[in-house]
Amino acid sequence: MSLINVGTVAFGSPSQILVYLRSLGLLADDMDCVRCGDDMEERLRRDVKDGYKWWCKACKTRKTVRAGSFFEKSKIPLRTWILLIHLWAYQLPVCTVAQMVEVNKETAINVFQWLREVCSMKLVNTSIILGGSGVVVQIDESLFRHKPKHHRGRATTTEMWVFGMVDTSTTPSLGYMEIVQDRRAATLLPIINAHVAAGTTIYSDQWSAYSQVGSLPNVGSHSSVNHSLNFVDPATGVHTQNIESYWSSAKRKLKAMKGCHAHQLPSYLDEHMWRERYGSDGCTAYSSITQDIRQQYPV
Ligand SMILES: [Zn+2]
Repeated sequence: MSLINVGTVAFGSPSQILVYLRSLGLLADDMDCVRCGDDMEERLRRDVKDGYKWWCKACKTRKTVRAGSFFEKSKIPLRTWILLIHLWAYQLPVCTVAQMVEVNKETAINVFQWLREVCSMKLVNTSIILGGSGVVVQIDESLFRHKPKHHRGRATTTEMWVFGMVDTSTTPSLGYMEIVQDRRAATLLPIINAHVAAGTTIYSDQWSAYSQVGSLPNVGSHSSVNHSLNFVDPATGVHTQNIESYWSSAKRKLKAMKGCHAHQLPSYLDEHMWRERYGSDGCTAYSSITQDIRQQYPV
């Protein structure tokens, strides 16, 4: 849906907003009374933010129209929610979004965190397998620097290793990233084997932990390039330039934000992997995230 269409809905009447969110499957169409089991009906209420409440005629029980939905625990108006999800989909910076929709920065930060959690959950439920027989997957590790928790006092270590892999048979390359505690073979080899299909060709640099990659069950062959000599091996053509450019795209947003807090890094990596699969542009990202919310918060 285009920004203009979303704007029309978001600035429409409370009933238009409910119709729209129901059409996406994000709010319940009908509701049974928890007390007496009767069908509840929708009542216009001027004193509630969403304009409507579920109401049981038989026993006078009331319930919010958000009951059981993704929005249930939130106090943000539904029209603001529609705009926030949309602007997140289009990757606007969180501070800009807070100003645009007139919510405080903390609120916008929390909403973006919840949306990244939806991305994480989607990835947890979909196993990521790269490569395949004869397909080249490039692997590498990269250091991510994040913001220290407190700005006062001595700076603590603010670096985390991320292990990454990219499938070179797709454009742009589809990747997989995982935060690792160290770069030892015992840590990295199981990750490689778990995320490639049988017969995959692996390209890497000559980091010692990779010496046994060729003997992994799912790996067909392994070649490496000596980065102290060449970026592309002149004899074999082996290189790791796809994973290098994958790192720069994965870090672009974090750099613009001047880093993120350590506990947020996993969800930012997940968002990146989610967007390359389900949200290549703002419009696609909006439609995918609303579908994922519907699946994860069935009403
Ligand atoms: Zn009732």
